[in-house]
Amino acid sequence: IKTLRLILGDQLNSQHSWFESVNQDVIYVMMEMRQETDYVTHHIQKIVGFFVAMRQFAEELKQKGHQVVYITLDDEINTQSLPQNLHWLIQELDIQQFEYLLPDEYRLDLQLKGFCQNIPIPSKAIDSEHFLSQREELATFFKGKKTFLMENFYRMMRKKYKVLMDEDEPTSGQWNYDADNRKKLPKNHRPIEPLIFSKNVEDIVQLLSQSGISSIGNIDAKNFLWPTTRQESLALLDFFLENCLAQFGTYEDAMHPSYWSIYHSRLSFSLNLKLLHPLEVIQKSVEYWEQNQDSITIAQIEGFVRQILGWREYMRGIYWAKMPEFATMNFFGHDRKLPSWFWSGQTKMACLRHAIIQSLDYAYAHHIQRLMLTGNFMLLAGIHPDDADAWYLGIYIDAIEWVEITNTRGMSQYADGGIIGSKPYVGSANYIDKMSHYCGNCFYDKNKKTGDKACPFNSLYWHFFERNRVFLEKNPRIGMSYITLNKMSTTQRQELLKQADFYLEHIEKL
Ligand code: FAD
Ligand code: SF4
Repeated sequence: IKTLRLILGDQLNSQHSWFESVNQDVIYVMMEMRQETDYVTHHIQKIVGFFVAMRQFAEELKQKGHQVVYITLDDEINTQSLPQNLHWLIQELDIQQFEYLLPDEYRLDLQLKGFCQNIPIPSKAIDSEHFLSQREELATFFKGKKTFLMENFYRMMRKKYKVLMDEDEPTSGQWNYDADNRKKLPKNHRPIEPLIFSKNVEDIVQLLSQSGISSIGNIDAKNFLWPTTRQESLALLDFFLENCLAQFGTYEDAMHPSYWSIYHSRLSFSLNLKLLHPLEVIQKSVEYWEQNQDSITIAQIEGFVRQILGWREYMRGIYWAKMPEFATMNFFGHDRKLPSWFWSGQTKMACLRHAIIQSLDYAYAHHIQRLMLTGNFMLLAGIHPDDADAWYLGIYIDAIEWVEITNTRGMSQYADGGIIGSKPYVGSANYIDKMSHYCGNCFYDKNKKTGDKACPFNSLYWHFFERNRVFLEKNPRIGMSYITLNKMSTTQRQELLKQADFYLEHIEKL
């Protein structure tokens, strides 16, 4: 039967059983489309990264003997819409059966289901063979529970895949070493220079500009830094194991204006495009740790495994359990517009300036920069979660909705009312200074809560708790903040709120 098989841009999994043998009756199709470049304003490196990786993947398949139709953005037959292109191909190539890999985005899932109902030939959706849990697995695991505790899901996954386990017990007797992993970078400590791939991508950049595609951020088109093939992704994994794993956990939360990735793996792009399989990343890392236990502690490897076997799978499970409602949740009813300096970095707040400019330059910020700088500010300032989502979905190279929205709307903005986090992740200058080297060179004074040059995070922090009293005061995990707030004199509290109101009124000028 002549079969058309669709491969989406984030389904570049060469290890998939589809590709085990070459079949002349099977035609693979990949396409660059405006429907994908335009659903949000993406970072230029993100669009380029996807297109380069897709083109290289198609070439690899062709070299292995598979038949591939690759529709470029400027192809004259390209309607720029997924269903329309598919309809055309089915007719033109006399296709008798259509198959696709289960997409990870709700939007594409709906679109493909709708498409299949409207074609006169049989169709089939096939597992992407990428994730370590099924779409519905998390919902079943937490059935009947109001909160979905990540730690419980993670322990189940550790047992299921026998990762860092001695029989039924966690290796070394402890499940989680998070408490050991919260150090600031010591003064004069220089992390390893990140491995970059320096690819020339001028042709794609030109194609995007000729096509009039809007984007954000910067790109060095002669030295594109991200891995775009499986081979490069494996090289980045090796680099991480040899140079970063030993310090990964210790400095996981550390932030520094001179170092953009510290000891992070930067594997999210490769993982999310499926160039790497999460289990191979986990197994290679655990093997590397086993062979190097004299230099790498269990806290480092456990911290890394938790991100991939725990958080990544958990977020995907939450997505399928809670979509589409999740996309409209706004627990606090926040409605402020995101200030325009989020697209330029032009703010006097040194921490946000660095994190934003870094994101514009590299399409990357590490987890704590996303959560405790940009996300923290958005939550304290009461930014509408739609604005938060659009920014995060656009700016990061690894941003695909299933993992972006759960992290942003859920973990970072608490717009889900506590499905993901048991309390909002917020902090004042005290936290930021404890974990970073930003405050020393800031226009604002980290120690001041009110008055001239007082750090905005300080008054906004208390404004957040005061205005959200009805939602949070009863939360047992937040007790301390309300005890402190209630102990303040009325004048002290009023001054703080006045300061925060002033900053919110002049948010564009911060
Ligand atoms: P490392 O720190 O080296 O971690 C290793 C791997 O663990 C990552 O590659 C990633 O695959 C996985 N991981 C770690 N934390 C998480 C997490 N919270 N959720 C899911 N996977 C995780 N991650 C994305 O992949 N895409 C996004 O669009 C995205 N948006 C985010 C938005 C916000 C507001 C926040 C707070 C976090 C977001 N994250 C997102 C999660 C996390 O910040 C990134 O996965 C991580 O920074 C990627 O960098 P890395 O590969 O160097 O990660
Ligand atoms: Fe950020 Fe405040 Fe520190 Fe400035 S003083 S870097 S605004 S936390």
